[in-house]
Amino acid sequence: MTTNPGGGFETLAIHAGQEADPLTGAVVPPIYQVSTYKQDRVGSPRAGYEYSRTANPTRTALEECLAALEGGARGLAFASGMAAEDCLLRTVCRPGDHVLIPDDAYGGTYRLLARVLTEWGISYAPVRLSDTRAVRAALAEQPARVLWAETPTNPLLSIADISALAEIAHEAGALLVVDNTFASPYLQQPIALGADAVVHSTTKYLGGHSDVLGGALVTADSGLAEQLAVLQNATGSVAGPFDAWLTLRGVKTLAVRMDRHCQNASRVAAMLAAHPAVAEVFYPGLPTHPGHDVAAKQMRDFGGMVSCRLRGGEQAALAVCERTTLFTLGESLGGVESLIEHPGRMTHASAADSALAVPADLIRLSVGIETCDDLLEDLRHALG
Ligand code: PLP
Repeated sequence: MTTNPGGGFETLAIHAGQEADPLTGAVVPPIYQVSTYKQDRVGSPRAGYEYSRTANPTRTALEECLAALEGGARGLAFASGMAAEDCLLRTVCRPGDHVLIPDDAYGGTYRLLARVLTEWGISYAPVRLSDTRAVRAALAEQPARVLWAETPTNPLLSIADISALAEIAHEAGALLVVDNTFASPYLQQPIALGADAVVHSTTKYLGGHSDVLGGALVTADSGLAEQLAVLQNATGSVAGPFDAWLTLRGVKTLAVRMDRHCQNASRVAAMLAAHPAVAEVFYPGLPTHPGHDVAAKQMRDFGGMVSCRLRGGEQAALAVCERTTLFTLGESLGGVESLIEHPGRMTHASAADSALAVPADLIRLSVGIETCDDLLEDLRHALG
């Protein structure tokens, strides 16, 4: 299969890895719903495909497209974002290694380290990534194999300076890994800013329609990708052909969807910031956000996620979550439809009672691409 045809982001999203099918001319890569491939002679597969755990043409198309969009050497597609995270950490870390994570990391990342990888001798510590002095100090105190960044973070939308972190990590002999799920490659390309690898939950903006689960890793260097592919093949956490196809279908419209997500989210954030029931709004597009300048420097726009704290405390937050009608109460994010959730009791419940616990009065909005006036009306009504 292909290749990177070159061109702008939208062109790559539609064409990278996706030449017309050589057999039929189908303009969209077919769903190769197949486990094995005929070999003409022993050990000589026709097109390099032997068994779909190792490689499958539909998955290859997605992997090539994601590598092109992130500007990386190679992409690998997984069954979920957590499968991608697990593969990366278990490939690069050995017992005794240390990982630095954001002090407001995604709850699942925290749980993977705290509940699973610590059992295998890998230690971790949370650090405020927006504070580069704190990151340097943490690395000086205990050398780390991986500096794990998320920017913007889930759910507090804090911003870390990717190029500054790349420099600090590399000086300390650590790899910089960036979870780019919230921004998507359309808004931010960490490898161009010095990251060694990018992680995605493709379940979110890349898939974009809340109908498929998936994950991805894209590496700056093909040597690291080769090591990751060995563990992925050995453990089998691959994206199935139909899931890869659905994700690829979503990726084609990523740019136009993201533009509208950003427009709608910035109006939602402005409305919330002026609302008397709201105590604090977290959106990097607001000039008052502490990470606004860094976000403006490294992102094309500020994204579709907005969080806020309510003056009425946890009860008020729970009530708003249950009162919206257009914003559906549910976990996940990045789909065309708007979602609302209470991180403390839902997506980030696994971090309760830890240093990464989120405020009880926090709600998180995944602002969809519906008519923005309808979204604003729904929120105003729910806020009362
Ligand atoms: N990273 C971030 C920032 C996420 O928000 C999520 C899921 O919400 C994941 C990783 C994990 O992805 P998945 O749910 O596809 O396993």
